[in-house]
Amino acid sequence: MSDVLDLTRDLIARKSVTPDDAGCQALIAARLQTAGFAIEWMRFGAVDNLWATHGQGAPVLVLLGHTDVVPSGPVEAWTSNPFEPEIRDGVLYGRGAADMKSGVAAFVVAAERFVAAHPDHMGTLAVLLTSDEEGDAIDGVRRVARTFAERGTRIDWCITGEPSSTATLGDLLRVGRRGSLSATLTVRGVQGHVAYPDKARNPIHDAAPALAELVGRRWDDGFESFPPTSLQISNIAAGTGATNVIPGSATVQFNLRYTPNWDAPKLEAEIAALLDRHALDYTLAWHRSGEPFYTPEGPLRAAARDVLTTFAGAPPEESTGGGTSDARFIAPLGAQCIEIGPVNASIHQVDEHIRVADLEALPDLYEALIARLLPGAG
Ligand SMILES: [Zn+2]
Repeated sequence: MSDVLDLTRDLIARKSVTPDDAGCQALIAARLQTAGFAIEWMRFGAVDNLWATHGQGAPVLVLLGHTDVVPSGPVEAWTSNPFEPEIRDGVLYGRGAADMKSGVAAFVVAAERFVAAHPDHMGTLAVLLTSDEEGDAIDGVRRVARTFAERGTRIDWCITGEPSSTATLGDLLRVGRRGSLSATLTVRGVQGHVAYPDKARNPIHDAAPALAELVGRRWDDGFESFPPTSLQISNIAAGTGATNVIPGSATVQFNLRYTPNWDAPKLEAEIAALLDRHALDYTLAWHRSGEPFYTPEGPLRAAARDVLTTFAGAPPEESTGGGTSDARFIAPLGAQCIEIGPVNASIHQVDEHIRVADLEALPDLYEALIARLLPGAG
């Protein structure tokens, strides 16, 4: 059995349901320390974060991942126990098999092999792991990045090993992510009888023209390969249930997925100004999930494209789609960020899996990329 398969199985067998790390990082830290990495534990609250570095100075290349997993859901729904890794017909099953214990194990094996072959490589190779990616994501990489900013830890390049491939390993290179911003808008009116509208004020009627303007607005025309910024209303709630009552308030929830043309403070100010123009009596609560990031053409993107082309036999699709990832916290430090990882078809699902052949190719892929970016001195 191969090293990366062994390590992935070991990690899956540790029930690290977010934010519990269940000893995954200790196992990895011990291996990286043996390989010559300096280990720093960055525990915040109930969250374990591991920062392991080899070499020194620039450029700094970070391999970013998480050891936590989402809950399995009902165990009976799985063909085999989600925390007892099992191989059937060349496929490894278990929670985290794709998202992302396979990617983490491949990082470790690639890092070990690379520093063994090139002990005097250029710059710094770092591994950053958190156990708070799938949960609140407060004391994980968000908090680590704040610490890095305070102490001046700089990062040039960051490779996230999230499952990003679509059909075959290496068919997609993620070069950016949209920002995400959510809002809960509460519009106050005056409750009353529908037959006496002059004695009430209908918050739905007040809100409607403002909502029409919000959804009708063209925020931008996209940015590089990003689709245009979009605002979607996800929930509208108002009313007492009776058909003869004008409600006293209305609540509207909406989310924006936005390009690097915008940031959260700009969008929030723009939307507040729009609501003010409609003279609504309202409150607005914002939740900022993450700013967008984009890695333009440069050494990181070129190296990744070359390596993936060799591995997959065709150039990868270069995409800014999908949800958010922890790279959103590293990008604002000035780092170029990309994401490369296994096929994502089964993530967060029952019978999550990865093809064993893909898993065994993954360390070679990462090692080739590291070698391109941090050439060995000897
Ligand atoms: Zn993940």
